[in-house]
Amino acid sequence: MAEFTLDLNDDQKQIRDWLHGFAADVIRPAAAEWDEREETPWPVIQEAAKVGIYSLDFYAQQFFDPTGLGIPMAMEELFWGDAGIALSIVGTGLAAVGVLANGTEEQIGTWIPQMYGDADEVKVAAFCSSEPDAGSDVGAMRTRAVYDGAKDEWVLNGTKTWATNGGIANVHVVVAVVDGELGSKGHASFIVPPGTPGLSQGQKFKKHGIRASHTAEVVLEDVRIPGHCLLGGKEKLDERLARARERAEAPGGERVKNAAMATFEASRPAVGAMAVGTARAAYEVALDYAKTRSQFGRPIIDNQGIAFQLADMRTRIDASRLLVWRASWMATTGKPFTSAEGSMSKLYASETAKQVTAQAVQILGGNGFTREYPVERMHRDAAIYTIFEGTSEIQRLVIARTLSGVPIR
Ligand SMILES: Cc1cc2nc3c(=O)[nH]c(=O)nc-3n(C[C@H](O)[C@H](O)[C@H](O)COP(=O)(O)OP(=O)(O)OC[C@H]3O[C@@H](n4cnc5c(N)ncnc54)[C@H](O)[C@@H]3O)c2cc1C
Repeated sequence: MAEFTLDLNDDQKQIRDWLHGFAADVIRPAAAEWDEREETPWPVIQEAAKVGIYSLDFYAQQFFDPTGLGIPMAMEELFWGDAGIALSIVGTGLAAVGVLANGTEEQIGTWIPQMYGDADEVKVAAFCSSEPDAGSDVGAMRTRAVYDGAKDEWVLNGTKTWATNGGIANVHVVVAVVDGELGSKGHASFIVPPGTPGLSQGQKFKKHGIRASHTAEVVLEDVRIPGHCLLGGKEKLDERLARARERAEAPGGERVKNAAMATFEASRPAVGAMAVGTARAAYEVALDYAKTRSQFGRPIIDNQGIAFQLADMRTRIDASRLLVWRASWMATTGKPFTSAEGSMSKLYASETAKQVTAQAVQILGGNGFTREYPVERMHRDAAIYTIFEGTSEIQRLVIARTLSGVPIR
């Protein structure tokens, strides 16, 4: 088991510097254009594929880094470049992890390459869980998957919303209800292969931030997929459902939720790391500006009112990174999240990104309010971190429930 350390090893430093170079030379210069276009930045994804950043190999290498720091380090650097473009690059990875975590070896080998395509023809993937009436309340999901035993096919019906890459993805991973009595334990994940009839894109959202990332509804109308597209296979699903039914009937059946919560705890630090990247980017612009902009005959950083803000910004960013790294290390080394440390890291880092980017806009004054400077975009982008992968309110609920043992509502 890897000891916790704040020293990156030589390999990690090399990867961090390589990612930083890509973020500085390729992502950041393209950020304003794709934010305005509100379109998926295919040429940038293609560049990332050419150098090996947009690939399963790269993602898996970071995911399986025994120190746990591979993913947070990668996320921070890419999102430092630009949040919308970086989400377009890592969005496929989020769907791929769903297959890596639940799929059979055959499913992993078949579908993940189709999610990425190759450098000549890049593809993306989407993970579709949220629905119009099931956002924070995942148990309210309505999309159904019904098994047609005669044809060994699953039939999916429902509407998904807020899907990153939804409708433009080559492969969609869709979460659906297979047993409505079991709440979130009665859900299963399915692969919808490229070109399957019945899957279509609904409305594409025009967003406040991360506008280079495509977000849309996904409509599923009698979508028929082969039995082998159920992630993990039918036998495993049937066993899992039988166990869940037994536990639900047993006294204290509510506790079956804990396994699902542990999965979220492990994935939330990655979002925290994205927030650290955006916050750090805005802080650096603000620090530089404060040293070079003069008013009243001296640089504005000469005023404590500005300098102390920068001191607080940097302190919060570093504290966020420490929480993120701790939680990522805990997830990788299998430490139990007894105080919801994963949720803590996401809550603190995402609120920090919102606060720090707002302070950066203020420090740049009128320039901060224009699209001539990047902090305006960073401030809009930062708003997503307190919303997706569980809102700040849901993180606080999880932390408070975990600490108190009380089912706080
Ligand atoms: C840009 C973007 C990309 C996304 N990408 C994906 C994706 O790829 N795949 C996917 O499946 N989903 C995705 N999502 C969905 C995202 O995870 C949800 O938006 C999020 O979970 C919140 O759900 P909701 O929007 O329905 O808000 P709601 O759940 O309706 O919440 C509204 C407000 O009520 C608060 N609230 C709700 N319940 C409680 C409570 N019990 N106590 C206190 N406050 C509460 C919330 O905190 C929030 O402030 C994405 C969303 C966005 C905006």
